[in-house]
Amino acid sequence: MNAEVISLGCRLNIAESERIRALLGATADVVVINSCAVTAEAVRQTRQAIRKARRARPDARLLVTGCATEIERDQLAAMPEIDGLVPNAAKLDARVWREAKDHGNSSPLPLAGAVGGGSVAANAAPDHTHPPLTPPASGRGTVSHTRAFVAVQNGCDHACTFCVIPQGRGPSRSLSVADVLREVELHLGQGAQEVVLTGVDVTSWGHDLPNHPRLGALVRAILDAFPRLTRLRMSSLDGIEVDAALFELFAGEPRLMPHLHLSLQHGDDLILKRMKRRHLRADAISLVQRLRARRPDITVGADLIAGFPTEDEAMHRANLRIVRELGIVHGHVFPYSPRPRTPAARMPQVDTATIKRRAAELRKTAAEVRQGWLRTLVGTPQSVLAENDGTGHAASFARVAVPKGTGAGAILTITPTKLVEGLLQ
Ligand code: SF4
Repeated sequence: MNAEVISLGCRLNIAESERIRALLGATADVVVINSCAVTAEAVRQTRQAIRKARRARPDARLLVTGCATEIERDQLAAMPEIDGLVPNAAKLDARVWREAKDHGNSSPLPLAGAVGGGSVAANAAPDHTHPPLTPPASGRGTVSHTRAFVAVQNGCDHACTFCVIPQGRGPSRSLSVADVLREVELHLGQGAQEVVLTGVDVTSWGHDLPNHPRLGALVRAILDAFPRLTRLRMSSLDGIEVDAALFELFAGEPRLMPHLHLSLQHGDDLILKRMKRRHLRADAISLVQRLRARRPDITVGADLIAGFPTEDEAMHRANLRIVRELGIVHGHVFPYSPRPRTPAARMPQVDTATIKRRAAELRKTAAEVRQGWLRTLVGTPQSVLAENDGTGHAASFARVAVPKGTGAGAILTITPTKLVEGLLQ
């Protein structure tokens, strides 16, 4: 049976799952779940994926890694389906996956701790010493895709009151410029047509490197080093930490996709303060207005939390309003859920039914704004990167149908004539 890596959660997990897949190789009777624990729902989905994988592969070695191995270790440890846990800090350690492959089903991995029916990888670094970032070894560690995720940063030094990610991923650390360029070259060499820079707190990239370069300098370096790269995209950014060089690139560099996804979290200032976010609603509005003045086709996405502790109806309405004020067309709405060992979990909670209702209202508002935006794209030429499902993504990340037989990775100009169920055709 072939090795299988099931990825949950964020783009950083997707990038890491690619590396694990390549490190494991094809021929190993191993299933890896790269888990997520950002919300209670993500943990539920992780447990569901574990049970489903065990049912599908009763004899395979089932290993779990990812943030849930750090944040929900005891819960996972109680699951008989699991053969071993690989701490987040060790998930890109080639030795772990070599051991997993070589040991087959009979004997457990060298032990560091007992879990369910199996073990914690012995050569995993102790929980909190997250190793520095390294690029994949040349030729290995990546799988060819039309769009490649490059993890330029990991971990986080902030302490937003609702967030468990620092517990799961440790302090912020950056990949050096040389290593980023090496990884981008690897992906381009394997046919990637678009590169997405990702991480946990991407705008903190460089703070731990000599001379503390900022993210804008990295983007510039990539575009200069690879003139043939025509599509560079950013994943979620902290708007208040967008540096001047990055702003100028967003405002005027055609090879940087006009798609700004903000880690906004909420539209009410008092809630933003209680979240310990570093921005206020006016900061986000000003950033988007200034960018739109320079690049009118820029599209905005945002992460938003519904039902944060102490949120009342007026604050919720402020959350709804900011979706329209920023013209958020890629809205990711998260119903608040208390996370272990976070300050927000100790604040007065909003009841579950209200959280659900508010999340639904936020999603409805974001869907209305998106629909309105998509209608404006009908009749306009779109540069589309084709995927392998008969659709592709425009520079703005709108989904567009591509002509039958179009190969994945083709970049073509399409002028959609209609909008059908959110798909431009
Ligand atoms: S910036 Fe805040 S929300 Fe983002 S990972 Fe860090 S602590 Fe979590």
